[in-house]
Amino acid sequence: MLEVSERDWIFEALKEKGLATATRIITKYIAGRLKGVEDLVKCALCPNMCKFSCPTHIVLGSETYSPAGRARIAYYIKKGLLEPSEENIKPLYTCLNCNACSIWCPFEFSLPDVIHQVKVWLRQKNALPERLREVEENLRNYRFLHGIKPVEQARKGDVLYIRGCTVRHRIRDLAELTVRVFRKLGIDLATTPEESCCGIHAYYMGSDDLFKELARANMESLRSFGWKYAITSCPITAYAYRVLYPRLGLKPPLKVYYVAEVLKEVLKDKELNEVKKTVVLHEPWALTRGLNSDSVIELLKLIPGLRVKLPMRHGREVFDVGYYCTLLAFINPELARRVAVERLRELKEEADVIVTASPDAKILFTELGAETYDIVEIVAEALRGVS
Ligand code: SF4
Ligand code: SF4
Repeated sequence: MLEVSERDWIFEALKEKGLATATRIITKYIAGRLKGVEDLVKCALCPNMCKFSCPTHIVLGSETYSPAGRARIAYYIKKGLLEPSEENIKPLYTCLNCNACSIWCPFEFSLPDVIHQVKVWLRQKNALPERLREVEENLRNYRFLHGIKPVEQARKGDVLYIRGCTVRHRIRDLAELTVRVFRKLGIDLATTPEESCCGIHAYYMGSDDLFKELARANMESLRSFGWKYAITSCPITAYAYRVLYPRLGLKPPLKVYYVAEVLKEVLKDKELNEVKKTVVLHEPWALTRGLNSDSVIELLKLIPGLRVKLPMRHGREVFDVGYYCTLLAFINPELARRVAVERLRELKEEADVIVTASPDAKILFTELGAETYDIVEIVAEALRGVS
């Protein structure tokens, strides 16, 4: 069988370029491999080989909103060749941080990582798009993305349930349903009104000190109660706890799982109702690329009667959308909507009903009129006596 690796496309593309161009690109590639050349410079010099995978570039068709485009802007600003004005810096914060570019990059760069230190430097110089200052203030003052935390009662249980800011703010019904689903399975979820944001938006803004402050506060709170483990409805939260916190040298005292990671184990020997639906699956990048988890597909396979289709870009190559779990909802909601329209077009080639493991996608696709279910809603349908 013919084996095709993720980067074979580069050689195919080079064949069509002619010898002179191909040689120039290869020379740049080799030069880029040399030690001492900053990743930002390599990315800025790159002919944007990964741009076809970038959601914002796909919908806008603009180099400014492409991976190398952002690297060039960051580089010019850092070198003093471009003013760090609101207009000039904005494209840096419209990146979904989805890492689609890293899958195709010959250097295996992640554009968000490549420009992160420039964002940190900009933040130290007090440069930040105006609309994001409010988000930063919310995180600093309330430790909640959307301002003052909702008034809630604490709920006791063995397993901590971190609902995530977006679920608490926009889709509380999903949080309540998740509690009922787990109770039906014999697991009492604990919730606390003190639940704080994972802080990832501070990281995306280059406010690393604030991100560390939030991460440390969350670590303390996990330590204080003796829960066995934690689950979350927000894949980005699981990614922050398991990937970003350890990067800061913080080791969470217990593991934080995305709900599907636990449900796929618990449901293995359960008798389930048929769910007679044909659905197309939209997974978030944080699970597939960030945590290398196929838990959602594994979970859906357990449900009798459910026919699950996959869109063209799925798994590690998923084309993700972004809203509250990125900076787009705050800085450019129209762009978030256009990315969602494009993804929806692709999903609907497979089926009209969408199942997602992303609170952002649930909100965006529902607002665009698509019948969209969170995976927990599908599990609830498969369990007897949960509504
Ligand atoms: S991320 Fe990699 S492939 Fe994409 S523009 Fe930068 S260097 Fe080029
Ligand atoms: S992380 Fe995603 S949105 Fe950002 S440049 Fe890469 S592909 Fe584009």
